[in-house]
Amino acid sequence: MSHAGAAFVLKRLRPSLGPWDAGAARRWSAVLLLGSGAAQALDSLFSGDPYPPFERLLNSAVTVLALALGLLVTLAGRFLPDLTYLGVALFGTLSIATVSIATDDATSAPALFLLLPLLLAVEQLRPVAAYLVIGATLLAYGAIVCTQLPASDVPDTLAYGSLAYVMLGVLLSRGSASQRRLTALLEEQANVDSLTGLVTRRFMDESTRRAIADTDPAAGVALIVIDIDHFKTINDSHGHPIGDEALRHVAHTIRANTRADAVLGRLGGDELAVLLPGCSLANASRRAEQIVAAVAQTPMELADGRTIPISISAGVAQVPDTAANQVTLYASADSSLYNAKKNGRARVGRVVHP
Ligand code: GH3
Ligand code: MG
Repeated sequence: MSHAGAAFVLKRLRPSLGPWDAGAARRWSAVLLLGSGAAQALDSLFSGDPYPPFERLLNSAVTVLALALGLLVTLAGRFLPDLTYLGVALFGTLSIATVSIATDDATSAPALFLLLPLLLAVEQLRPVAAYLVIGATLLAYGAIVCTQLPASDVPDTLAYGSLAYVMLGVLLSRGSASQRRLTALLEEQANVDSLTGLVTRRFMDESTRRAIADTDPAAGVALIVIDIDHFKTINDSHGHPIGDEALRHVAHTIRANTRADAVLGRLGGDELAVLLPGCSLANASRRAEQIVAAVAQTPMELADGRTIPISISAGVAQVPDTAANQVTLYASADSSLYNAKKNGRARVGRVVHP
């Protein structure tokens, strides 16, 4: 494969070689590296290294490397690339094999220790990386068995040991992947409103909190709250399913009239909201006017050809112009919305400074 071809394959594979959750992979790696490095260091300190100079040097080098890597992951893990954790698992597998072969370790200790990097990989890394480490474990185990056991014991030991690694690795990796899929699904259900596809109030609150914390105060964070006018009448006249359709229609019209960085949410019932990070009060008011006009000009078309006119009222607020924090931002936008309803609906309410 050409250099460009290899680079292309690596780029495509890269996301499948990283961890599911970098924070958890960092903690696992730190514990495994520091734990095994410290155990090895204490063992050498108290029992002494009964090996010839080269083997002793190798043992010490691997111990120091494990401790150094463990410290690096602990202190600077946030800045390390995602591939680091696959590297940690492969480093573990390779060093266990190298040290046990060099020190003629014919006990079952290396076989057991090979489980540690394997567990890191199957629990914390995405499937491609996990299977790579399972493969590396088989190679490492094969090398240990072939060099440490009498030839007559090799086939049986190798076959049973390899089978155990593969079964353990595949089962745990699949279990971990399906648990993560389930968690992602639950998270999506908690964050996305199934009727409109907009985010939920929970997600909206979290986005507002983050936007206020992260956005330059000079730019500000604006909020538009929207309520469908006489929505009960739509439900009563046309039925609940058409009411649902109207909610989807309004959500779609709002999406078509906002920038991609706006966060659109359903606060509950027929109340929707648009969060505009880095937006001035004047721009947010213009955007609200545009949304109210767009909904008024886009009646909902039913399958039978009838059209239902829909109007919305909106309230606008902004940190820092009309509110100081998340709570007062929503209160200020609600007051502005109340003003719109009170003054005839189908409009943007006067800006309210609570
Ligand atoms: P106003 O102009 O004052 O807002 O009048 P309104 O009739 O829209 O009054 P309000 O906003 O209080 O009504 C909300 C209605 O939305 C009441 C409830 O039956 C209806 N609703 C809430 N959730 C849903 C839903 O998921 N689907 C449908 N079809 N209706 C819903
Ligand atoms: Mg309403």
